[in-house]
Amino acid sequence: MFRQPRHKQKNLNLSEVWKKVLSVKKIIIDEGFCKGCGLCIEACPKKLLKMGKKLSKQGYPLVEIGTSDQTRCLSCALCARVCPDVALKITKNHV
Ligand code: SF4
Ligand code: SF4
Repeated sequence: MFRQPRHKQKNLNLSEVWKKVLSVKKIIIDEGFCKGCGLCIEACPKKLLKMGKKLSKQGYPLVEIGTSDQTRCLSCALCARVCPDVALKITKNHV
C-alpha cells in the first residue's frame, strides 16, 4: 500500500502547506562566528547576502541578509558550504 503525501496525512490543503513553507526562516547567520570575508556573498546565486554596516564583538564587519524576501532563497546552501567559519545555517522546509 502507498503512503499518502505528508500534507494529506495531516489534513492540510496545499495553500496552507505553501504558507507554512514560505514562512519558515531559511538563512541563519551566527554573528559570533562571521569574520566578514564575503565568500558567501560571492557564492549566492540569488545575491541575497550583503556586507552590513554592523561590526561583530571582535570588530569584523558582519554579513547580513540583503532582502526581506527570503522566499527567493533556493536552500542550495552554497553560502554555508563556502563559509570557512561555519557561520551560516540554512534551514530545511519541513512541513
Ligand atoms: S542557500 Fe543558496 S540561495 Fe539561499 S542564501 Fe545561501 S547561497 Fe543564496
Ligand atoms: S563566508 Fe562566513 S565568515 Fe565569510 S562573510 Fe560569509 S558568513 Fe561571514
